[in-house]
Amino acid sequence: MKEKIQRAEKLNTLGELAASIAHEVRNPLTVVKGFLQLMQQDEKGKNYDYLSLVLSELGRAEAIINDYLNFAKPQFEKLEEFPLVHVLSEVKMLLEPFAVKQGVQLESSLDTSNFQLLTDRNQLKQALVNLIKNAIEATPEGGKVTLTYKLKDNHAYIYITDTGKGMDHDQLARLGTLFYTTKDKGTGLGTSVSLRIIETMKGKVSYESKLGIGTEVTMILPEGKKEIVNF
Ligand code: ADP
Ligand code: MG
Repeated sequence: MKEKIQRAEKLNTLGELAASIAHEVRNPLTVVKGFLQLMQQDEKGKNYDYLSLVLSELGRAEAIINDYLNFAKPQFEKLEEFPLVHVLSEVKMLLEPFAVKQGVQLESSLDTSNFQLLTDRNQLKQALVNLIKNAIEATPEGGKVTLTYKLKDNHAYIYITDTGKGMDHDQLARLGTLFYTTKDKGTGLGTSVSLRIIETMKGKVSYESKLGIGTEVTMILPEGKKEIVNF
């Protein structure tokens, strides 16, 4: 128990440091990107290829910093009341092209009850996208990812199951640790960001996984409607 508390404190300090670095770096990056975009429009010469490379690398740096910033302090900017099922179908549609590209079948079975949440819609979307993307990325061609939503005891139960490579005990233990990634181009931030967001929504996330068989993520969200939510 004690160990857990210490780790949380360490993460907070790291998060604060990350936030200040990210703030400093993000602005010049944005400026450089803007100038390069102008150059790309004007320059018809042979440097064109290098320019698109630079732009894509800058885009990646920007994404990492944005993830970082999100981890340090999830910004719940616009609180609104909405039915959870809308966001779930939106996220599924959003990720369909990515699943098709990976040769993975993305299916859903969604409860249509009018379960309302009061939160920042975009943050919830981000949390779901990160986890479903991981499921798709872990799944080989011809595999399946399923998004299920059921209402139980006034709580939303969301399951993301995949027929992917799964994780062993050690991998599961490291999941959600900052920068932990097994991917060539991974940032190791996606899961941490999602867990932070769901925690801020007073929700819970748990994982069950078997090597070579697949993974099931369970997310439990409390209703946000009648509560006075204070972030
Ligand atoms: P990234 O996706 O950039 O690697 P994440 O924090 O999203 O970073 O994930 C960390 C690691 O956890 C991944 O690299 C992967 O090894 C593992 N992981 C996450 N979700 C799954 C999953 N559904 N199945 C198998 N491995 C997973
Ligand atoms: Mg990820």
